[in-house]
Amino acid sequence: MVSEKSLAWGRSDNVIRVLTAYGLARKAEIGADKVFDFSIGNPSVPAPPAVDAAFARLLQGDSVELHAYTAAPGLMSFRKAIAADLNRRYDAGAEADLVYVTCGASAGLSICAHALMNPGDKAVAFAPFFPEYQVFAERAGGELISVPPAAGLQPDLDALVQRLDEKVTMVIINTPNNPSGVILSAESLSRLSNILRGAEEKYGHPIYLISDEPYRELVYDGTPVPCPLHFYDDTILCYSFSKSLSLPGERVGYLAVGSRAADKGDVFAAICGAARSLGYVNAPSLMQRVIESCLDQTADISVYKENRDLLYNGLKELGFDCVYPDGAFYLFVKSPEPDAMAFSERAKKHELLLVPSDAFGVGGYVRLAYCVSTDMIRRSLPAFAALAKEYGL
Ligand code: PLP
Repeated sequence: MVSEKSLAWGRSDNVIRVLTAYGLARKAEIGADKVFDFSIGNPSVPAPPAVDAAFARLLQGDSVELHAYTAAPGLMSFRKAIAADLNRRYDAGAEADLVYVTCGASAGLSICAHALMNPGDKAVAFAPFFPEYQVFAERAGGELISVPPAAGLQPDLDALVQRLDEKVTMVIINTPNNPSGVILSAESLSRLSNILRGAEEKYGHPIYLISDEPYRELVYDGTPVPCPLHFYDDTILCYSFSKSLSLPGERVGYLAVGSRAADKGDVFAAICGAARSLGYVNAPSLMQRVIESCLDQTADISVYKENRDLLYNGLKELGFDCVYPDGAFYLFVKSPEPDAMAFSERAKKHELLLVPSDAFGVGGYVRLAYCVSTDMIRRSLPAFAALAKEYGL
């Protein structure tokens, strides 16, 4: 007898995966250059040269040590370097003992859900949100509660107040956001923190703010990304090197528990226990060492900025209503018809692969991942023009 939940997740038609698979088949059928695949957030720029240099250098060293298990929370030298990096960049008050190195942000989020929820507890996420939040919360025996967006796709904090109850133990934010590219403003973060502090007092237990921030460095106009640790003590940063260093397949990220968090000792121990029960053992040891020497690096994101400007301006000129993305590498476009799935299907007829926003907990938009070649964006504009014409834009 297999797990019903796991079977359902394994068999469910993840819209993004289905669209990407369709794209691959279509490219084989009509030629890769004829399909405009905006479906997937896979970095399109190489890792910084320092990453390859570190690999080469490390491979000269002691192979047994290099490939050995590390301590479960990660190499202490790496954890110290991460804490120092957070303190240098954000004056975050981070402590190495509260840093847990993970197999990317996905593992970090799943570990948090298992560490912070008992059966029947709730995690809150602000739509639009990364679809895996729901799977992670439910696998941990909890439930994901969705809060709708307000103007400018900032969270609707009045709606949050309506949804908070004693069962809520964690609230997830994602800034810059996948799928909208929106950065959570200092104003939103400040009000959110006040609300959560009030709820902690009312319900008599901590509510942890999980800041999922794999796109923290992918910001194009110098817009600041406020650090949640400056606003709210019971915060856990959930980071990933997948996007900032273009290393998504190498699976390294970290959790950093706030040094002023109420139960930081217990929370860190629960994180260790959750990671153990989930079988993570440790994040890849070679990659921990590589990234330790590249913490001050970011992949060259100038191409993403060029792509963002080209796509945003191009679609606006054609009459599409687009959310201006300050960061990440996604453009959120309002569907010209209420049903974004129908719009996405219609776009397919023009070989445009756009992810309907229903996958992210809101209707009425499509997501375009612009981590693609600039040339593909240029070549796709006539297809968008034909699509716009069909809708009389
Ligand atoms: N959170 C968000 C918002 C993401 O977009 C992603 C990946 O696309 C992740 C988490 C997971 O990233 P990782 O590759 O580090 O598991």
